Formats: sequence, structure tokens, C-alpha cells
Amino acid sequence: MTTIPKCDFHIHTKYLGCANGTMDIQAILGECRRLGVTQLGITDHLNSFDKLPLHIPIKRNIESLSPDIDLFFGAELNFTGAGGGFAYSSEIKEQFGFQFTIGGIHDAYLDVYDLKRLVDIQHRHHLKSCCDPLVSVLVHPYWFRKTDFDKKGWHGSIP
Ligand SMILES: [Zn+2]
Ligand SMILES: [Zn+2]
Repeated sequence: MTTIPKCDFHIHTKYLGCANGTMDIQAILGECRRLGVTQLGITDHLNSFDKLPLHIPIKRNIESLSPDIDLFFGAELNFTGAGGGFAYSSEIKEQFGFQFTIGGIHDAYLDVYDLKRLVDIQHRHHLKSCCDPLVSVLVHPYWFRKTDFDKKGWHGSIP
């Protein structure tokens, strides 16, 4: 019987502060080995073009290793604004050597709570992510920041 591969293509590291200081690639590989993960993709956030150089040390670190687990250099893309694009292109992919990306919405893009608009906005961005040939995986459908609900007082608006 064929063994079903165990893959994780959404992992953050310490490099961009997306995960805590213990999350260096060696440590992540060690844990993956323990859990039987066979393929691993590193995906720290790429929210804006100015953050691109921060991904270079991650790539260098990956290239310096010879892991027994398939290890890939990726990024998690976010929209630059409501209806905006990703801080990414085929030229960037080529230049920085990203092997894949996961992408999706990371904001409500609303000031006043309106459930229909909230869902519409999320849905439009999900579709945009899925239609983007440079995005391998829709990262996490329906993403809401808790602070939106806290700061904007939305808790009381939820039916
Ligand atoms: Zn993430
Ligand atoms: Zn995310």
C-alpha cells in the first residue's frame, strides 16, 4: 500500500517575527521528523514589497541545509489593500526564488459592521486568490482579526 504523504505548506518562522524565537528552520524540521511530516513549505508573511529582502536569509538558511524532508521556500501573501493585489509577481518569484505561495485576505476592510458586506468582501478576495496563477493555495478562508471586533466595537453588532 502506498504511504500517504504528510505535508505542511503553512509554517511561520522566527525570521520575520511571524512565529516565536524557537521557530528556526532546524527546530521545525526536527518537529516535522518527529511527527512524520514528509514535505514542508516555509511561508513567512509577505505583506508589502519593502519586506521582500527579509525573505533572503530564510532562503539562504533553507539552501544551507540538506534535510531528509522535502523542504520548500514559499511565502504567505496578503492583499495590499481592499481590492488590491499581492506584493508579488512572476518577476519577484524568479528574482527571489520562491517555489510556491499561499495567499489570501487578512483584513475585514470594513469600518462599520455589516455581515453581508463582510462576507462579500471576504468572498471576492477568496476568488481573487484562487484565480491568481501565482498562488498555489488559498491560505485560510474567512479571516477576521479579533482586534477589528474589539477596537471597532463589533461584538454588540453580531446577531
Ligand atoms: Zn500564516
Ligand atoms: Zn494568514
